[in-house]
Amino acid sequence: MRIDLHTHSDVSDGTDAPADLVAHAAAAGLDVIALCDHDTFDGLPEAQDAGRRLGIEVVPGLEMSTLEGRTSVHLLAYGCRTDDPALLAELARIREGRRRRMPEMLTKLAVLGYPITAQEIAAQAGDATSWGRPHVADALVARGYFVNRDEVFATLLADDGPAYVDRYATPLPDALALVTAAGGVPVLAHPWGRTSRRVLPPARLAELARLGLAGLEAHHTDHDAATEAELTHLAAALGLLVTGGSDHHGVGKTHNPLGVRTTAPEQYEQLRLRLASARAATGA
Ligand code: AMP
Ligand code: FE
Ligand code: FE
Ligand code: ZN
Repeated sequence: MRIDLHTHSDVSDGTDAPADLVAHAAAAGLDVIALCDHDTFDGLPEAQDAGRRLGIEVVPGLEMSTLEGRTSVHLLAYGCRTDDPALLAELARIREGRRRRMPEMLTKLAVLGYPITAQEIAAQAGDATSWGRPHVADALVARGYFVNRDEVFATLLADDGPAYVDRYATPLPDALALVTAAGGVPVLAHPWGRTSRRVLPPARLAELARLGLAGLEAHHTDHDAATEAELTHLAAALGLLVTGGSDHHGVGKTHNPLGVRTTAPEQYEQLRLRLASARAATGA
């Protein structure tokens, strides 16, 4: 049983339509995937339809933009009710912030010698409801300034890069409360990945567990083997689930093929139990 609990579609910054993503997952021999688009549930109906057609289980997921202090932290959420008014309103606020920062980013890019237009970004975003830096990167690649997304991030768009512009995200404790109230199970995405290790030391993870955090995504390509082992031990000590996923963003766009990291079947079974009790607790 192969279980990948972290994937993206072109509803956010992935490149495959939800149904195509599920077809690729089936072809890659996966049995279960979770679609975790950034700050939107919009891809879930199509992905779940495709899952039923292709005989692969699609767990409804989300990757929510949150803040710990001033540092960006991604929170995965599984099984949220997708009609919860408070959560939907907060996700809409985050997506609005994603769009609003674009003019300032265009100005910075022009000053840095990489002029592009809003239309070029819109063309790359296509029907995506959740816009992100990867769409900006795609526009710069389409212009011929860079060869791929990774090069753009390394040069311009990383959190400490010269073209970076801040945006609204939900304070992490508030996000935990919103997800929990919507019947979802919250799991920290890549907890000790690119930028978040500093703000999420073990003592803080223990506090977050008391605030409702249910798991740590230990198995992620942003973690080396030692980090995965540390997080796995920590999760056991704190009574948290250990999950894993590819963080796949589409064919040919990243170094994260589907299934490159997975969740152990027994951990997935625990997650299913948590989902059932979370749903029962919130009456969904
Ligand atoms: P945004 O959601 O607009 O803040 O952009 C963050 C997204 O950009 C992440 O979800 C990744 O898909 C991608 N990303 C962030 N940092 C990097 C990086 N250093 N290299 C490649 N992709 C990145
Ligand atoms: Fe992304
Ligand atoms: Fe992430
Ligand atoms: Zn992701």
